[in-house]
Formats: sequence, C-alpha cells, structure tokens
Amino acid sequence: MRDTLKTYFGYDSFRPLQEEIIRHILDKQDALVLMPTGGGKSICYQLPALLSEGTAIVVSPLISLMKDQVEALQANGIAAGALNSSNDETENANLRRSCVAGKLKLLYISPEKLLAEKDYLLRDMNISLFAIDEAHCISQWGHDFRPEYTQMGVLHQQFPQVPIIALTATADKITREDIIRQLHLIRPRTFISSFDRPNISLTVKRGFQAKEKNKAIIEFIQRHGKESGIIYCMSRNKTETVAQMLQKQGIRCGVYHAGLSAQQRDETQDDFINDRIQVVCATIAFGMGIDKSNVRWVIHYNLPKSIESFYQEIGRAGRDGLPSDTVLFYSLGDLILLTKFASESSQQKINLEKLQRMQQYAEADICRRRILLSYFGETATEDCGNCDVCKNPPQRFDGTVIVQKALSAIARAEQQIGTGLLIDILRGSYSAEVTAKGYQELKTFGVGRDIPPRDWQDYLLQMLQLGYFEIAYNENNHLKITPSGSDILFGRAKATLAVIRHEETATRKGKKKKVVVAKELPFGLTGGENEDLFEALRGLRKQLADQ
Ligand code: ADP
Ligand code: MG
Repeated sequence: MRDTLKTYFGYDSFRPLQEEIIRHILDKQDALVLMPTGGGKSICYQLPALLSEGTAIVVSPLISLMKDQVEALQANGIAAGALNSSNDETENANLRRSCVAGKLKLLYISPEKLLAEKDYLLRDMNISLFAIDEAHCISQWGHDFRPEYTQMGVLHQQFPQVPIIALTATADKITREDIIRQLHLIRPRTFISSFDRPNISLTVKRGFQAKEKNKAIIEFIQRHGKESGIIYCMSRNKTETVAQMLQKQGIRCGVYHAGLSAQQRDETQDDFINDRIQVVCATIAFGMGIDKSNVRWVIHYNLPKSIESFYQEIGRAGRDGLPSDTVLFYSLGDLILLTKFASESSQQKINLEKLQRMQQYAEADICRRRILLSYFGETATEDCGNCDVCKNPPQRFDGTVIVQKALSAIARAEQQIGTGLLIDILRGSYSAEVTAKGYQELKTFGVGRDIPPRDWQDYLLQMLQLGYFEIAYNENNHLKITPSGSDILFGRAKATLAVIRHEETATRKGKKKKVVVAKELPFGLTGGENEDLFEALRGLRKQLADQ
C-alpha cells in the first residue's frame, strides 16, 4: 500500500485513518468517512481502486470537481475518466468502450448519469467499489441536499457484492445516520477524523454597521500584507459591492458567484490560485474542491446559515497548517433575514435549528472551538487559546452545582424533556405539562428556584456548548446527557460557567421598565430602540422552542 502511495501519489506516509479506511474497503466492507475539507478523503477510495480488480465508480456532484480530479489522476499515470453532460458524444462513446473493456481504474460520474446508466453501462462493467463523494448531499438534514442523490439507495440492491464508501466533510450525527440509512450501507464502519484545525484563529465581531465593517475589513487586509484571503457574502450583489470597495483601496480583488459565466468564474479561481489577485469576494458557490494551501484568512461578511457551511468555509484557510485568521461579522439584520429564509424553506424546522446553532456560536462566551468541535461530535479537553473568547475571556465561576441540578433533572425525567419543560421543573412551576406528566413529584422539582428562567436559558446554552448534553432533534428535541455531562453529574469533574452579564435599560421617562439581558439580544445592543425587532426575534425563537 505504501509503495502504491509513493509511486502514484508521491506521499511517504498516510495521514491518520487513511490506511485503516483503505484496508476496510479492500476487505469489501462499507464505510462512512468523515474528514474535514483538505483532510485527504480522495486517497481513501483512489488507492483501493488502484489495488482492486475492475473499475471504481466515483459519484461526485460537481463537474468542475470531477475534471480536476481526473486530470490530477491522469497526470499521475492513472487511467481515469469522467462521464458527464459536459462531454461530447464521441468522448462519451470512447469512455464507455474503455469502461466495458475494463481499461479504467476510476470512473467519475454525476448522480444523474449514474442513475441513467445503472441498468446499462454499469451492468457491463466489472465494478470494484462505489465511492459517494460529498455524501451529505443525500440527506435533507445536510446543508446541500440534492434530490438525485437519494436515488442511490438502489445501488446496494443492484450490486450487492460491491462495497460502498460514502465520504463527506460535513455531517452532524443525524445526517450521518441518514446517509447510512439511505444508502443501505451494510454493517458500515464510520471513520471520523478530528475536525480540529488549531492553526485557524476564530473571531466574531458583533453589531458593526456597514461602514464600520468595511473599515475593519480594509484594516484587517492591510494588517495581512499581501496574504491571500476570501470574503464570503450572503448575496451576489454584496460580493460585487465589497469587491468595488476594496478595489478602490488598491487591493487586487475578484468576484465569484453563480451569476457569472463559467468562464468568468474559472478566471477568478485561476487568478486566485496563481496569486494574480489577493482577495476573492464570493458567495458559498466558491471553494468546493479548490486546492490552494496558502489562503491565510477568511472573512464572513454575513452570518452563514449553519455551522456546517461556516466550518467548511473557514476550513479553506490554512490548509498548509500555518497560522490563519478568520473573522465572522454578526449582525441583527442578517439574523432576521436568515431566520425568514429558514422559516420559509421546505425544511423549516431543521433549518431554523441549524441557524440557531450558528447564532449560538456567534453569541457564545465560551471557547468557540469547543462549540465547533462539539457540533461535530468531538469533545475538546481544553480551551483553544486561539479564539476571541479565550483571548478576552468573560468572568467565570464554579458552576458545578448548577450543572448538576440541571442534569439530574434531565436524568430523573428519563431524558424525555426539552429545555422548556426542564426549566419549569427546575423552577418548580406547576405548568400544564409538568402536572400532566407528574413531574412535580420528582426530587429535582424546584431545585433551581433561585435562578430566574432567563438565566437558566443562558446556563443551559452554555452547558449545551460545553457538551454536557445534546439535543436529539429527531426525538422531539429531548435532552440527552453526554459522557462528559455524566462526569459532572457524578462529581468526577467540575464545570466552569461564564457569569451572565445583565444590562439595565431605562425607558424614555427615566423609569426602569424592565431588565433586558443584553447577552440574550444578538449584539449587546440595548432593547429600547429596537424593541419590535427583538420581540419578533424572541417570538421566532419561542416558536422554535415550542415546536
Ligand atoms: P478532501 O477530499 O478530504 O477535501 P483531498 O483528498 O482533496 O481532501 O486532499 C487534500 C490534499 O491533501 C491534497 O492536496 C492531497 O494531495 C493531500 N494529501 C492527501 N493525503 C495525503 C498524504 N497521505 N500525504 C500528503 N498529502 C496528502
Ligand atoms: Mg474531496
């Protein structure tokens, strides 16, 4: 295996998990592989393809991605081809002949073509394995659902002896389970490599007006000298205006979005890879599959719609392992807009939840890397020291008892409650749901009376982010205690919580109307002048919590 790795790819050693995955596939077993972007997923199916009889079928959603991969393989002397709608008829006819004659080691194919060919070309081939790249596209829970992917469930039925390897960089737990179910993987092993990218710094800036934001970005770029970076914007229009703003400052800058011609996009990508431009202002369309190792920074001009998208996009920085910086600008306007989009989407509930987790990340006052990692099912053992929260920490205290109260209430309710009911139980309120279930009989009923409900919400958010419990989205949002939560519950470890910062606002008459918890509002803005917006936002959150 190592010889093949060296001969064809020029690498001396495997990265973590690659070797194990390859052996598993060579044993003709199914696998789900989760590795961050740039982690080295391709080798996991390319090497088994080289070492097996027959042709590996690689399903990939993007023609440009296929093209790059096939060219790279051919350059390494590997017989590979891509069957897709961008080829002309002769090309495809030649390719078909090579496939049937068993001359190819790898055939890249779009999901549409795969479905069209499964009863024809595929039957006449000797197939060594199926690799489903960007496998999260199969799941509605994933962030990039593609209906054509769902039909690939038939592959295993039709080719029962051929192993399937599904690969993705972005899949939380439910998405993972969904991929396995939909592809009908048989006793699959799931391989998860660490999502930690400690060389990437994380910063969130809140409440900047457009002007301040632009100024901050220009300063940021100037601080970074000639280093390359990407600015992700929510809309095509925004990419254009931001690019113009930077060009006026003499910064060499290109634009990339789906509204441009393929030629224009290729040109921008090419200019960027070859350092003819320093900055690309882009929508999410940019970056899938680009291989530029020295992207030194990524700025999010707008809030992304999920942690998955966010992680994928910041992951384009620092692939060479050197220090790289990321900044997320977080504003109320974005949040409201994205909440609206999510509420109107067909996957309303899940999209709102994903957005809420993104929002929680942006508002958090615990180590941001912990939040990212816990989102992907990893538990960090210590704070990262390389995010704005770690560098400028809020005050903290020993919150073990608070955490224990909450977790024991969850445990005594047999992990069958959501946050709303949990707070009722902790506060000892005889709500209809509490009495209906008889929860007033629990020993933990009322143990958290000393803490106001709003503060409980904050602490629960912190506990979620610290990874003490998880929310089972597919089980009525019930709370499930994690192993590190058990450690706190049974006194094996201590929990440190952040002090909640309250901020009081006065009404126009100078009389205190109510206390507004600044932290709960998105930007530390005070409620007064934006009361209606905040009310709308709270309503949406409540709606979500009630669902
Ligand atoms: P992914 O598909 O997970 O985003 P790729 O398979 O495209 O990542 O690999 C990312 C980069 O890592 C590529 O430049 C690839 O050549 C390189 N790479 C992969 N495996 C190894 C290895 N074992 N040693 C050195 N470089 C590797
Ligand atoms: Mg890949």
